[in-house]
Amino acid sequence: MADQHDGTRCVHAGLPEPVPGEPFLPGPVFAAPYHLDPWQGPAAAPNGYGRPDNPTRRLLEAAIGDLEGGDCRVFASGQAAITGLLLTVLRPGDTVLLPADGYYSVRSFATGTLEELGVRVRFVPTAGPYPSLDGVRLVLVETPANPGLDVADVSALAAEARAAGALLAVDNTTATPLGQRPLDLGADLVVASGTKALTGHSDLLLGYLAGRSAELLDKVTGWRSATGAVPGAFDAWLAHRSLATLDLRLARQTANAEALARLLADRPDVTGLRWPGLPGDPAYRVASAQMRRIPGVLSFDLGDAERVARFLDAAKLVFAATSFGGLHTTADRRAQWGDATGPGFVRFSCGVEDTVDLVADVTAALDAAGPGGTATAG
Ligand SMILES: *Cc1c(COP(=O)(O)O)cnc(C)c1O
Repeated sequence: MADQHDGTRCVHAGLPEPVPGEPFLPGPVFAAPYHLDPWQGPAAAPNGYGRPDNPTRRLLEAAIGDLEGGDCRVFASGQAAITGLLLTVLRPGDTVLLPADGYYSVRSFATGTLEELGVRVRFVPTAGPYPSLDGVRLVLVETPANPGLDVADVSALAAEARAAGALLAVDNTTATPLGQRPLDLGADLVVASGTKALTGHSDLLLGYLAGRSAELLDKVTGWRSATGAVPGAFDAWLAHRSLATLDLRLARQTANAEALARLLADRPDVTGLRWPGLPGDPAYRVASAQMRRIPGVLSFDLGDAERVARFLDAAKLVFAATSFGGLHTTADRRAQWGDATGPGFVRFSCGVEDTVDLVADVTAALDAAGPGGTATAG
């Protein structure tokens, strides 16, 4: 369906052919074992046991695969997909490059488990500069990076990785496949959390991996079956149901982020504003060339933890919550989770509320929060 546009592709992605009397999206199939043919056993049917086989999961994989432009395997969470990738590809003595400013659980997994297994872990800032990739087995970039929103040039890195014989994987969580298609840009693999904007209702955990190499996909599938890191049927079904509105949700989130970025850029009591869609943002040039749309996530600094708390208390439309990409606008002070960000650093995730209401609420809440105490560098 590559010739169709985003909204159309999201509505139809992964749906089976119409059958009179059947629903558009078949309901979740709840099964651990399935009936077997007494003579032929598991060879006779596509479903034998729930860990490797589930038809609800396969429909979701067809949908996400269609949006990413590759074959897809879904996992119980983004972390399950990413750790599955790392442990499938990396062996003792290998070197992996990971984002220095990316998702913190990936970093702690690397410095814990991977280094204990004898993998050499190197951290590189998303915006670069990147070292020579000679002797590197795997490069994982996260673009835009969570929470700092720096952007990496995927095509340029893909060319360097190919020349050096390294694999390039891109964490597409923040962008979603409507924001960018890393496989089209030359990446070998996409990994992502489907917990965030992809499914967008703040009601499930999901991860996925997508690629075009049958060999890599087979290894990852084997890993997933061996570890059992699969999502349940109901979560897979909810995720697929939610995909139909991805284009609509992202459109409103991006519009809200653009309006808020303009508001915040003009306020002297807000520092360190980052939104890759804002001309003048350090990521603007690469993001505009590489991305098809800019996500509804911004970051900025309110100086100290107390001012962030006053802002969140005063805001009526901004929930204090971690995660991002949901229907409801949320904000998270990242230092409280251990990110190496200043005490007043906020990751702000725009929901799908009306722009005019959100701008009014954030303006009033910032006014009510008053000036910061001890100012910190953004
Ligand atoms: C949330 C997130 C993950 C982990 O996803 P879970 O679904 O929470 O396990 C990985 N990468 C990025 C960029 C994320 O934002």
